[in-house]
Amino acid sequence: MHISFLVLSVVVLFASPSFQKPHGNNHDQNQVSESKDFDYLVLRQIWPKTSCMFPGSHQCTIKNTVSSWVIHGLWPNYNVGFPSFCNKTDKFRPDLIQPIVADLEKYWPNLYTDTPLNSFWQHEWEKHGTCALSLKQVTNERDYFQMTLGLREKFDFGTLLEKASIVPDNSKSYELAEFINAIEKELAFAPVLSCFVEKESKRQFLAEMQICLNKSLEQIDCSEHNKAKMVAMRANEHEQQCSPKMPVHYPVLDRNQKIIFNF
Ligand code: AMP
Repeated sequence: MHISFLVLSVVVLFASPSFQKPHGNNHDQNQVSESKDFDYLVLRQIWPKTSCMFPGSHQCTIKNTVSSWVIHGLWPNYNVGFPSFCNKTDKFRPDLIQPIVADLEKYWPNLYTDTPLNSFWQHEWEKHGTCALSLKQVTNERDYFQMTLGLREKFDFGTLLEKASIVPDNSKSYELAEFINAIEKELAFAPVLSCFVEKESKRQFLAEMQICLNKSLEQIDCSEHNKAKMVAMRANEHEQQCSPKMPVHYPVLDRNQKIIFNF
């Protein structure tokens, strides 16, 4: 009697919709999050001088061709999280970007000259670019790089800062708000900044800045003013949120000292 009741209970439990639902939902959720289209884009730029100050084993070189803020990436994002490696068969092909390689070396350079020239572009295309293929403007790898170069030109952080008389200077520092206000004044919304704090000097250096764009490539507010849509800063291990309590250094590119070895 007891055993048949137990068997019957197990059968009823497995057959009931409420048992199947969580499993089915989890599965669906995973599928949806992998195949669903992204919500917005992050355009992130690097100040190369600060990037070459990061400790580590890379040989970092600011080549003569580089004289401005440079692209880190154009990254599709979900409102929570982000997709990556969206088309594993669409591998990076150097030949496709050959016609624009001079511009890429200038505005999207591989600063780590101990790695193959193409490796940074390969990483950005395969991890992030393949997730932008759902945009009507991006039908292939060349489109992705070309479009991102265009966005860097449109949202040229160096020029925007210069308009507010904020220029690289090794002997003075700025308030964090000066950077934010300068960009916010020129664009529709404030940027999100990240800084590198040098261990020895404990000084804070501006490292990267990012803005967000909708799928029509118009800027949207993802700064801390907009708590509802505040984008998480996706920095590397050397960067952190800039502290408003510390001065912010914006070092000159110092291209006389082109090769910096970090150990
Ligand atoms: P992501 O996954 O897009 O955040 O890219 C991070 C990867 O790109 C890391 O492997 C970094 O070491 C590398 N990286 C970031 N900036 C540069 C740069 N300017 N030159 C070369 N590699 C870089």
